[in-house]
Amino acid sequence: MRKNIVAGNWKMNNNAEQTQQLINDLKTAVSGLETETRIIIAPTFVNLALAQNNAAGSSIEVAAQNMHQAKNGAYTGEISADMLTSIGLQTVILGHSERRTYFGENDATLTEKVTAALENELEVIFCFGELLEDRKSDNHFNVVESQLKNVLFNLPASSWEKIVLAYEPVWAIGTGETASPEQAQEMHAFIRSLITDQYGAEVASNVSILYGGSVKPNNAEEIFSKEDVDGGLIGGASLKAQDFTAIIKAI
Ligand code: PEP
Repeated sequence: MRKNIVAGNWKMNNNAEQTQQLINDLKTAVSGLETETRIIIAPTFVNLALAQNNAAGSSIEVAAQNMHQAKNGAYTGEISADMLTSIGLQTVILGHSERRTYFGENDATLTEKVTAALENELEVIFCFGELLEDRKSDNHFNVVESQLKNVLFNLPASSWEKIVLAYEPVWAIGTGETASPEQAQEMHAFIRSLITDQYGAEVASNVSILYGGSVKPNNAEEIFSKEDVDGGLIGGASLKAQDFTAIIKAI
């Protein structure tokens, strides 16, 4: 059965001291929570080990925001999947729209990254979603379908145990504009139907599909109430313990 997940993508925020402080605040906030929801935070690379140490013994999982597709070698400034697993990480976010927009990641790069992550037994939170112009031209379903098919639909069914999907319409990320709960549900149901067609109902019903894009304490409950929305990938609101905890409680 699929799990609910609330994952915080901290992006390039929080130095070492702030990382420790935020995790301490979060630990206090979630310690009394009776929840089955997985709670994940993704700090910047340099603070991953620190975050793991700080989060140890709590229900907070630590993930990476990205990784390079090569095993190792002359890629100055990059981090491999093996480096992540070697410090005990289990999850990596791949395909975030900021990686696609600012760092030129595309379906081909992401296919390599997903393959490398899975070869190293990492769970992948795979982000995808349409641009505003795609939605305005009523092309959003086509865009999402091709992003998924090109990168993930060549995987064997067994790999889907390690895949979490994060539908993030680019026009809703960091803009304060959220997809309506109905728009989110419509797209999530479409995504699940694509997986059903390709892999069958069991794989489709076991995949967690997160929504991302300006989720805040005041809109989380309505979005998460939708049948095919299994939680959220949270940017801005994951940087405040109180807001992130409110979003976790909204499930
Ligand atoms: C994100 O970066 O994945 C995101 C959803 O950001 P925000 O919540 O700030 O829109």
